[in-house]
Amino acid sequence: MANPAIEPTPLAGGVPYRLAGCRLTVDLEALATNWRALAGKCRPAETAAVVKADGYGLGLEPVARKLLAAGCATFFVATPSEGVALRGLAPDARIFVLVPMLGDGAETDIAAHGLVPCLNSTSEIAVWESFCGSHGSPLPCAIHVDTGMNRLGLTPAEARAFAEENALTQAIEPVLLMSHLACADEPAHPLNRRQCEAFGLAAAEFKGIETSLANSAGIFLGQDYRFGLVRPGIALYGGQPVTGHPNPMRPVATAEARIVQIRYARAGETVSYGATVTLRRDTIIAACAAGYADGYHRAASGAGVPLRSGDGAGASGFVAGRTVPVLGRVTMDVTLFDVTDCGEGAVGRGDWIELFGPNIPLDEAARAAGTISYELLTSLGARYHRRYVEAA
Ligand SMILES: *Cc1c(COP(=O)(O)O)cnc(C)c1O
Repeated sequence: MANPAIEPTPLAGGVPYRLAGCRLTVDLEALATNWRALAGKCRPAETAAVVKADGYGLGLEPVARKLLAAGCATFFVATPSEGVALRGLAPDARIFVLVPMLGDGAETDIAAHGLVPCLNSTSEIAVWESFCGSHGSPLPCAIHVDTGMNRLGLTPAEARAFAEENALTQAIEPVLLMSHLACADEPAHPLNRRQCEAFGLAAAEFKGIETSLANSAGIFLGQDYRFGLVRPGIALYGGQPVTGHPNPMRPVATAEARIVQIRYARAGETVSYGATVTLRRDTIIAACAAGYADGYHRAASGAGVPLRSGDGAGASGFVAGRTVPVLGRVTMDVTLFDVTDCGEGAVGRGDWIELFGPNIPLDEAARAAGTISYELLTSLGARYHRRYVEAA
């Protein structure tokens, strides 16, 4: 069924409703429910919230405000600029910056806004030490130790050497030791156990400070993986934390496109750029005002894109109580759906078709485009009319 939470409002989120081709509804109550569910599951570990990339594309401000109200006290962002923006909304929260870009002057802003940088290399440690020296006091930081992802972080040996040295000098004040799992969404992957053990060994070198390993999927690997602080992102926003397992989280985001034209095409005709699909029957086509410029990826096309391997069918929408397939290529501003099975007259201009939401799971829409929920959310375009609702 269409989401009853979605009713036309004349104005919200900047883009006038009547002028927008697509709309995004964010259920803030579901977001808070998801955070509370994880917090309850992980206790006594603390549950933080990862709100990088504009709250996974859903809007930093409403997302952060809701999570604060739900009781979240610790946040992770990617960049110092995101940290500064969040500080304006959350004067008392703990804010960790995952990619602090120390060495180019960011340290001054990070300290001025009371942000905590995650130090990812010995050179970032050196910058923070020298900054703290000139500042006159050891400032808090997190130490990121790499346990097998090879993206960011000190090697375990570097972390050990740092722990020994800083215990003597106390040049900086580590408040958190963290690492990141490479394969947490594949519970059977042997790297999970290896990383967990390596992290436990590293933590033993940093007595008396907090520890954090698990992202959303890591939480579901079990209690051993939760340490003192967990860092969920995607699960808060309704993404499926563990591949191939039922999704325990509530959907948060609903994306819909406005139907701008109904057309009748004959069997044998072709549809969209490249004429990559030939109709096998007389077809009712709904042309909808969202396309790849809105983050409805071209790889979700019903046909004619070589990028997507596997799942050959392309994406589907949901309208008039039915799941209906994308026809031919997704274009920049318009996507075509085959609504023949809805029946003559069941779908009309001005109706809205769901791209993902309560009927088309976010993860299914992502899979159909050869990608993951994270990328689908963070590529939602600027043309969406955004609404934030508190529907229970
Ligand atoms: C993005 C990120 C997270 C959150 O991951 P999810 O899979 O979205 O829960 C946690 N930790 C680090 C270091 C990250 O980069």
